[in-house]
Amino acid sequence: MRRPLIAGNWKMNGLSADAVALAGALRDRLDGLEGVDRVVCPPHIHLAAVAGELAQSAIAVGAQNCADAPQGARTGEVAADMVADAGARYVILGHSERRQYYGEDEALIAARCGQALAAGLRPILCVGETLEAREGDRTEATVAEQIHGVLDRLGAEGLGEGVVAYEPVWAIGTGRTATAEQAQQVHGFIRGQLAERLGGSAADAMRILYGGSMKADNAEALLAQPDVDGGLIGGASLQADSFAAICAAA
Ligand code: PGA
Repeated sequence: MRRPLIAGNWKMNGLSADAVALAGALRDRLDGLEGVDRVVCPPHIHLAAVAGELAQSAIAVGAQNCADAPQGARTGEVAADMVADAGARYVILGHSERRQYYGEDEALIAARCGQALAAGLRPILCVGETLEAREGDRTEATVAEQIHGVLDRLGAEGLGEGVVAYEPVWAIGTGRTATAEQAQQVHGFIRGQLAERLGGSAADAMRILYGGSMKADNAEALLAQPDVDGGLIGGASLQADSFAAICAAA
């Protein structure tokens, strides 16, 4: 069976003292919770401090991006091995905000994924449709294109021990959540696509997270779906009590 995973995406929030305080509060609240993996993803600049704060805890650290190339002349980027060296074990890639504001496409996301895997990081590959695509009945086509666009460029290992996060763009930061049925439908579809590429047993083992306004009060219904294996939490991950409640629901 797949072990649930709850990941907090802190996005571009918090000064160093805020990040360390939030990490410490989560460590205290989540101590002793069994049966669920948890990860927090602070901004790069706080990775090492947060990893230090969480060193003796069961909370892993993830980054929100990594470079598409090894160390070298890439001003402003952070290489995957640097991210790992700062204490991260996971890295969010292809988030819709990066696709939207920084023009990331599948080729770039795949290159970042390849670097992450080579550095021993587990990618959290984000996919999801816009409202326009959903209303135009192009949800599955969009998600399939995003998944295959990345897997086409990776080796047979695919995402390795990475995970996929389904994040409908219209649900991110809007307070509007996919219903449990909508989420399950797309998660089931994604698992089918993964099975085509990676084989049934690899697809069965891979965790597929839901993201988009997941909160303490809707987490249980979403997480009860057979193909929803966890959550990628934005806004609610910035409050220790909310994030801890979502972890407890898993
Ligand atoms: P949200 O963000 O929970 O604030 O909707 C989720 C995400 O962007 O990963």
